[in-house]
Amino acid sequence: MSNTTKIPFLDLVSPHVQLEEELVGVFRTALRTAGFIGGPAVEGFEREFAAFCDARHCVGVSSGTDALRFALTAAGVESGDVVITVPNTFIATTEAISQAGALPDFVDVDERTYTMDPEKLREYIRTQCVVNQETGKLMHLRLKRPVTAIVPVHLYGQMADMDPLMEMAGLYKLIVIEDACQAHGAEYFSKRENRWRKAGSMGHAAGFSFYPGKNLGACGEAGAATTNDPAVASKMRMLRDHGQAKKYYHDVEGYNGRLDAIQAGILSVKLRHLAEWNEHRRAAARRYDELFASAEGVVVPLVPEWSKPVFHLYVVRVEDRAGLQKQLADAKIDTGIHYPVPLHRQKAYAGYGYKEGDFPVTEKASSHILSLPMFPQLEAAQQQQVAEKVLEVTAVGMTHR
Ligand SMILES: *Cc1c(COP(=O)(O)O)cnc(C)c1O
Repeated sequence: MSNTTKIPFLDLVSPHVQLEEELVGVFRTALRTAGFIGGPAVEGFEREFAAFCDARHCVGVSSGTDALRFALTAAGVESGDVVITVPNTFIATTEAISQAGALPDFVDVDERTYTMDPEKLREYIRTQCVVNQETGKLMHLRLKRPVTAIVPVHLYGQMADMDPLMEMAGLYKLIVIEDACQAHGAEYFSKRENRWRKAGSMGHAAGFSFYPGKNLGACGEAGAATTNDPAVASKMRMLRDHGQAKKYYHDVEGYNGRLDAIQAGILSVKLRHLAEWNEHRRAAARRYDELFASAEGVVVPLVPEWSKPVFHLYVVRVEDRAGLQKQLADAKIDTGIHYPVPLHRQKAYAGYGYKEGDFPVTEKASSHILSLPMFPQLEAAQQQQVAEKVLEVTAVGMTHR
């Protein structure tokens, strides 16, 4: 192999160089108006991002974690409630649940989409919960606490199978908060409504992250929550700003969780390119799919007919993940693992008493998944190089079995 140029996992430099003048202009405007927190830049971005998500309201906040936390609280999750999510996600999902005062619990994911398995949720409700006859609320039998919300995670840029989840939520009066932190612009075909729906427009509220590496990233920390419910929107606005509806009049205790104007201005500039960047990611995913079409040892991402993902990540599954990752690293190809340790096996949650085998689909996936280079500027020639190496390594693995 003569080619020794490194292939990065993602490229955060090129898009900012391309937009440098405009981005610096945002900073200059902030300096000259001393508009740093809130104000027209934030309101402008909120309108634009709500429109992008087909949601009625958007509330800019300081991170995706805060977006999820404020969404949970504003939508009605209370201290002591049980909130169900998946173990195959970033810990921010469960941090937000805990920080909202609730207790996170898990159902396993679907083997091919890695998102919440509606059948597992059905089984959880059937075997672990009972409907309280007086309150009509779903109660957890062992924990003796109300189960009030679910947080489906739209992982790797693909939405969870929302129709059956929304149907169960309706049946058991569960709040649905979408973790859309990896899914800006992803779409889901709802058979119930016979139309495509955008991530962040289906649940009671949703959280988005603008961490720099996300499909839409700030030049620092930022996030947003979306909702179609004006009451939830105004509660989230209060929570991000010390619980005040009017300056120095505090209806509740809130947080310092605002979006600053410079990040909002930067996000407005970058949002204008997001649809195109997402299309580039989709094209890159199709190229990988074709390159791996005949490779038996490489399981590519499944895209059900109801899904239009935005490929925040392109995640394959292989038998010998450690071997492949090392050989790719030796060939100067960067990869990632999302995520190597399921949440129920994290030290942080050791006190909850989960054990190995509790969520076998997530556990199995966590030791075989590998995220390949994926970003809008990824070139076909680079993908060719990645694929050649992957095919070489996995083909050897096959003959040794
Ligand atoms: C990035 C991410 C978050 C948290 O977002 P921050 O902006 O880093 O707080 C939450 N959930 C998922 C699935 C994420 O990928």
